[in-house]
Parts: sequence; C-alpha cells; structure tokens
Amino acid sequence: MDSTSRPPETDAPAEAVPPAAAAAPAAKGDVEITRPRNDKRGYRRVVLPNDLECLLVSDPDTDKAAASMNVSVGYFCDPEGLEGLAHFLEHMLFYASEKYPIEDSYSKYITEHGGSTNAFTTCEHTNFFFDVNHDCLDDALDRFAQFFIKPLLSADATLREIKAVDSENQKNLLSDPWRMNQLQNHISLESHPYHKFGTGNWDTLEVKPKEKGLDTRLELIKFYDSHYSANLMQLVVYGKESLDNLQTLVENKFCGVKNTGRERFSFPGHPCSSEHLQVLVKAVPIKQGHTLRILWPITPNIRHYKEGPCKYVSHLIGHEGEGSLFYVLKKLGWAMSLEAGEGDWSYEFSFFSVVIKLTDVGHEHMEDIVGLLFRYITLLQTSGTPKWIFDELQTICETGFHYRDKSPPIHYVANISSNMQIYPPEDWLIASSVPSKFSPDAIQGILNELTPDNVRIFWESKKFEGQTNLTEPWYGTSYSVEAVPPSIIQKWVEKAPVEDLHMPKPNIFLPSDLSLKNAEKASFPCMLRKTLFSRVWYKPDTMFFTPKAYIKMDFHCPLSRSSPESSVLTDVFTRLLMDYLNDYAYDAQVAGLYYGVRPNDTGFQITMVGYNDKMRTLLETVIGKIAEFEVKADRFSVIKETITKEYENFKFRQPYQQAFYYCSLILEEQTWAWDEELAAVSQIEASDLEKFLPHLLGKTFIESYFAGNMEPGAVKGVMQHVEDILFNAPVSLCKALLSSQHLTKRIVKLERGLRYYYPALCLNHQDENSCLLHYIQIHQDDLKKNVLLQLLALVAKQPAFHQLRSVEQLGYITLLRQKNDSGVRGLQFIIQSTVKDPANLDARVEAFLTMFEGTLYQMPDTEFKSNVNALIDMKLEKYKNIREESAFFWGEISEGTLKFDRKEVEVAALRDLKKEELIEFFNNHVKVNAPQKKILSIQVYGGLHSSEYEKIVHDEPQPNSYQITDIFSFRRSRPLYGSYKGGVGQMKL
Ligand SMILES: [Zn+2]
Repeated sequence: MDSTSRPPETDAPAEAVPPAAAAAPAAKGDVEITRPRNDKRGYRRVVLPNDLECLLVSDPDTDKAAASMNVSVGYFCDPEGLEGLAHFLEHMLFYASEKYPIEDSYSKYITEHGGSTNAFTTCEHTNFFFDVNHDCLDDALDRFAQFFIKPLLSADATLREIKAVDSENQKNLLSDPWRMNQLQNHISLESHPYHKFGTGNWDTLEVKPKEKGLDTRLELIKFYDSHYSANLMQLVVYGKESLDNLQTLVENKFCGVKNTGRERFSFPGHPCSSEHLQVLVKAVPIKQGHTLRILWPITPNIRHYKEGPCKYVSHLIGHEGEGSLFYVLKKLGWAMSLEAGEGDWSYEFSFFSVVIKLTDVGHEHMEDIVGLLFRYITLLQTSGTPKWIFDELQTICETGFHYRDKSPPIHYVANISSNMQIYPPEDWLIASSVPSKFSPDAIQGILNELTPDNVRIFWESKKFEGQTNLTEPWYGTSYSVEAVPPSIIQKWVEKAPVEDLHMPKPNIFLPSDLSLKNAEKASFPCMLRKTLFSRVWYKPDTMFFTPKAYIKMDFHCPLSRSSPESSVLTDVFTRLLMDYLNDYAYDAQVAGLYYGVRPNDTGFQITMVGYNDKMRTLLETVIGKIAEFEVKADRFSVIKETITKEYENFKFRQPYQQAFYYCSLILEEQTWAWDEELAAVSQIEASDLEKFLPHLLGKTFIESYFAGNMEPGAVKGVMQHVEDILFNAPVSLCKALLSSQHLTKRIVKLERGLRYYYPALCLNHQDENSCLLHYIQIHQDDLKKNVLLQLLALVAKQPAFHQLRSVEQLGYITLLRQKNDSGVRGLQFIIQSTVKDPANLDARVEAFLTMFEGTLYQMPDTEFKSNVNALIDMKLEKYKNIREESAFFWGEISEGTLKFDRKEVEVAALRDLKKEELIEFFNNHVKVNAPQKKILSIQVYGGLHSSEYEKIVHDEPQPNSYQITDIFSFRRSRPLYGSYKGGVGQMKL
C-alpha cells in the first residue's frame, strides 16, 4: 500500500512538518487559490498588520464554524535538558488567559456550544483547533485568540499539568509505534534535533529542571515569549458569515497577537551521517510479530511536489497487484502487509520507507526479502519511468481532488493551516495531492537514492530477546546494531529466489462515467425490494451531488457466532475472502473505490463506498468469490498465524481497551472470551473451515442498503443478480432463513439500586496504568429519555474533565460520554491512571457526581436554555458526505429501530424540555444513591496497584454492591432487554 497520504495522529509528535521559509514567499494581495471544481465556498487570504497570515473560508451552508492556528514551533525547538517543553506549552495554553482567567473556560464554552477542541505538537509545528455551532464563532474565537495574546500560565496549573503530560507519556511507554519511532530518532546524530524526545515527562519537566535550579514555569514563559510570534503563525477561520464579516472578526480578535519578527526556525543538515547508514538494527518489540522497516534518506518530495516523484515511486513499490513486490512476497507466504512511502519529512530532510509485516516463515527469509526489494527497485530504475503510469496517477489524484467529500470543518481547517506553513497560497488547498508535471528526472532522482549505500534496516521481533546489547533511553527498547555493507546486500539480491516481478497493468477501475443520475426527491430511505432471501433499502443522493455511492450488505448467518470456534472460523473466512480479492481489487482502492468484508455480530458484512461507476463490477466480483469460495491451505495458515498473533497481543492492549472488552463481555449476549477464541484458533485446520462454510452460508438472509448516485432500477438489478448467484443457482450455496432463526443482539439488564463491580488484573503485568470504567445504565431507546441523557452528558462533560483531569490530575485519558449498545443507553466515565487505583477512582467519580449535583441545581435558566439550543443545533447539523448520512440511516436499519426521522422528533422534544425534567432525570438515574441507579464498575488494576487488587477481591462487598467473579454465570443469571428486531410496532423480519 502507498502510505504517503496518511493523516497525522492528534497529539502524536511522530509526523514531521517542514518550515515554510523557502516554500511560501510572503506575497501580499489577492491570490487565486486552486480549489475543487464544485467547491462553492468563498476563500480569502489576509495578512494582518502584525504579519499574521490568515485564510478565511465562508460557507453559507455550514452548521459548524471552526478555526485552527498553526504555530511554526515544535519540539525541535525544545531547550537542551527541557525535553517536551513545546508540547507542554501546547497543553498549558488551554488553561486560562488574562481576559478569561477561569480555568478551562475556553473548553467549557466550546463544549457547551456543540463543539470540540484539540491540539497536537510535531517536530516543527504546534496546531490548535476547535469547532463550534456556527452562531458562536465570535465568542469562541475571542477565547481562542487569547492563547496567542496573553495566556495565564499560572504556577499552580503548571505543576498540575506536568502530571497530565507524564500520564500521556506513561500511556505511550509500552506502545510499539512510539518505541520504534524513538529508536529511529535515537540512531541519528546527537547534534540534530531529530534525535530528541518530544513528549516530555515528570523527569524532564519537573525533576531535572529543579536539580539545575530551573523553574519550569519561568522557562515556559520564556519559551512562549521568544518563540510564539505572529509572523510564525497561520490562521484559518471557517464560518457561515461573509468573507468581509469574517475579515473584520479576525482583524478584531487577532490584531493583538505580538509580532517579534522572530526568524523562522530552521534545522539544516541531515540527521543521519555515514555511521547511521548501512546498518541493520534488531529491536525487541512489546507485541508478537515481526516487522521489517527499510529506510533511505531522500530528497524531500516537497521540493518537487508538482512533479510528485515520491508519489510515483511509492505507488509502484507499494503496489499489491499481480507482479508487484507484495504479490510475490505474499505468494511465497512471507508477508502479511507492505506499505511504502515518504515517512518522517521536513523541507531539509526526509526518509523513504518500506514497512513489511512478516510471517514467521518470512522472518526466516529477511535477506531474501531485502534482496527482492532491491531487485524490484532495479527493475524500476531500468524500466524508463513509463509516462502512462504518471498519467494514470494524475487522473486518479485530480478526480480525487475535484470530487473530494466535504469533511467536518474542524479537520478541514487544521489541515489547511498546516499546509499554509509549507505551500505557496495558491496551493494551500491542493497541497501536494495532485502531481501535475511529469519529470522522469525527478523520479529517477528518488530511485537513485534507494541504494544499498544509503539504507537503514530496522528489524523487529520478539525472537531477538536476549540477543541485544543496547537500550534506547526514553522507552527502554532493547536493540543491537550491525553493519550491512553494500557487498552483503548484493549477495542477498543474488541469492533471492527468481520471481516474476513486473510493472502493473493499467487500472480498470478508473471511473470513466462521472455523470449524475436523475434522482427522485427522498429524505429517508425506502424499502425497495423484499424477498425471502433479502431486503433492500434505498436512498438516492439528494444532498451531495457527487458521482459516488455507498453500499452495505449484512449477511445474517445464525451459525456465525454460535461458539468461539465458529466465531473464529467466520473471521478466517472473511479475511481469506479479502486476501483472494486483493490481487484484482487492489486497483479499485487505488482508484477511490473502497471495499471491505468483515465479520460482525450477526454474520458478516460487505461495505463499499466511492465512485459509483465501477461499483457494480466490484460487488459482483465479491459475490462471485463468495459463491466459488475454496479454502487454500497455504493462505489459510498465513491468516491463522495473523489471527493467532492478534489474540496473543490482546494482553498488550491499553488498560482502558481491556476495560471496554470486559464491559462488552458482561453486557452483550453471545460474545466470547478472547482466551477461548485464542484456544479455538490454535485448534482449527483448513479442513474445519471447509466443513464449516456450507453450514455458515447454508442459512442466510441479506439486509442491504444502497445510497447515492444510483437509480432504483439498477439497485434492484444488482440484488436480483446477487440472489441468482447465491440462492437460485442449480446447486445453491444459500437457503432462506426460517423465521425462528433470525438473530438479534441483546443486552444484559442490570439491577436497580445495585452496584456491580468487576475487578481484574491488567493482562500485561508490566503496564503500570490502571483503568476504571464506571458505567451507569439508564434506559432503552425512548425519545424523551434519549434527549435528557444527551443533554445531561453535554452539561456534565466539561465539568467532569475539569475536575477529574485538570484539578485532580487522575490521568491523561479522562472522559465522560454516552454509551449506546443496541439501543440500551447510559453514561460512562473512563479514567486511566497511575495515580490512584480503580476503587479509588470510582470514589472520585462519585465525589464528582455529588459536586455536580450543586452545579446542576444552581444552573441559571439562561445557561440551561443555551445548552438545549446547542444540542438542537448539533442535531440539525446537515450531513457533509454520503458516509455520514449512510452511517445514520444504516444504524437505524441494522438496529431495527427504523426511526429515520429521529433527529427531527428529538429536536421537537428538546424544544419543550424544562430544567426540572433534567434535574428529575439526574435525581432518578444518575445521582449518587439514586433510586433507579444501575452501576457496572469495571476495574482494571495495573502493575502499581496489584496489592489493591488482592485486597478488593478478598474484601466483603459494601452494602448494595455485588462483585462479579464469573462473567458468564453472571450473564446467564440476568434478564435481557428486548430486541427491536421483531418487537411490536418495530421491524418485522
Ligand atoms: Zn499532549
């Protein structure tokens, strides 16, 4: 797979962004910004007198406003010995400002007006962003601007927030992506900032500075004053207002940002010198599995982004079709996945990387794999860079740009403000997404850099345990380094097996018909067709006017989850199907037509989304593969190995993920324990799958949803074809379900007035983090209660975060949110912590609820009304693309609730809501000791709290508390909520 265009992870200092000095000349005046053909929004570039560069986006159709500020300062700027200071400053700016001194008032305002906030720090920039209901932009922006004008950075908050940064680092310590990333940084020049540790922890931000007589807060202020300057910032503001009004708004709010004329930070030179090249680094990961990362320093693509040489090269090296490197490695049973593309990059330096997940057998053939990779590179170097491949790529990228789905404004602004630092204004939207100039020289230039002289090979496997002699200091990763001179690689190339590597064939999935069909007006899906075998829901596109469609197809197979074995076999079946399809259908993904086949609660599911032009061809191929499915023993064993490793790695999941797992296991009927599934997968053989499949598919019902640029007649035709292949063939694979066989997923009903708790030791004893999941079960789908719950969650979310994270500093992951399992709804608090054990965290949640009682009772009517209005605005928000729309309607179909007008009805209910009703709801269901209260407390005890675990499992339960010791006997003993599938007035099957 081509990995060049992956979005950066929020708050992950893994993705580098270059300084813009050389790329973006500060031209003033109007510039024509290249935009998608159908983009009706208004754009204007403005430079304020303080040199702050802004892009205004006016969208009369938007329901949300948003803004993002990119600051060209990242952790590369951290002072020596104060690792993580830039990232820490990012955290601190959220607290308070001179104008808004109340702690967290920015986040409170945004949350209470339907929005959200976030930020991330990378090596060369820090990005802050939010969205909010469109009519609150003025007030939100006023608070946001103060980050960059006069933040408070109080001493008290500084000390507390260092704990949040430390907790964030604790969360990453046992995570392989973080560990391996730092290892690559570590094996580089100490004098280059690439070498740095960017997150920070208690030691680097508190202990070490103190030892040296430094005050972290003063250093923070110093850093802010000397680095944050208006000329190093890029702002994007997105609103419903006209461009003129947005401009006035921005001028008023941001003219006070100080411009110190600070020069752009630049970090010339490459982080790797000769001693960091021609190396083979063996590293021991936390998880099972073997990964090979082959990297080369290259000329950054950004310097030739119109030619896009890296796009061309990664398209080919990452290709998965017949004749590709991955195709060959897969055929040999050596690789599970392959990704290629430009990795860490800036304007000064860059790496091209090929990341291959190896099978156990592949691990034994590392040298052959590297040999084949170099052989493929030689093939590319000598094949004369065919122009048709460039043309094809250009067409795909151009179509992708012009028919780009509208994305949530919060993502849109953060993306553009990051681009502004890098590209000239006319390319702020298009960035490097479309290569437009064919340059064989630029492509050859990159290929010529992918040589054995330049290579760095990182090879990770548990098998290296005990064979390494070095330790990376920040994460403690064990590793060793060996030299690999080009002569050795040459030997590997020579001895690698002879395989038929060649260039790909032209892509047959390029959409050629992008016309729009004439659709009838329809606000909701309708049932288009119904037979004994299937049911089809249909919703034409009446909103987005793009040549795209969306298909969901649920195969209800009663046997799919009847035991841990069948659950695992169903999983293997869907993965094999994807595996068989890959050679042929990889091209569809490249051309913007995505598909997936995955197991789900009632069987398995096909999803397709993208250009509608070739969708039918692809769907019919998938159905054809199901009909003629054969178990291939060699691929079976690779898939079995993959799944086995995934189960084995289950114990290395974050404690909060383990808590989610226990919660589902306790509440959901027909779920199996991971260790039972692991035991099952180790027993199964290819012959078991052969025997199982006729039973799995033997009784099937298909529930499907077609939406977008498709006509009803065509949809009916597709479904008739599907039935003909699967149900009506002379020897048919599938037969109709009996009415007694329809599946439902049902949820355990907890007991009123009781508090259930389930203590468990963290599966990875080395993990010091503990986690509490405090779940309050409230009701099953009910209009009035739904809106009361949503309103309560909206009102309580920010106070909970403020108290439990900002004030008490229990842990970086601290949140309150709604929970909805098949229509059964409630609230859940999640806290991951090294500070307190889960039972204590539980007590803190209850203490918060007691405190919140007062807040709620004393809430002024105006505040109540404003929260209600915010929730109404959130509900009335229009769908931005077909995925969003389909997610909602398909949710109603798959749950069986079929309330397509849910939002409208809930808005009507909200308009009548009184504050007393909210208080009554809280008093009945949520308040500590509320009469109707039903609690399930999942407590995962980490390494620091194992003695507390011993105590809680042996202590007598408190009054009205019940300790769950055996999940399955508990689950059997409880009544279940009814299912909406087949209930009175609900969907009939
Ligand atoms: Zn952070």
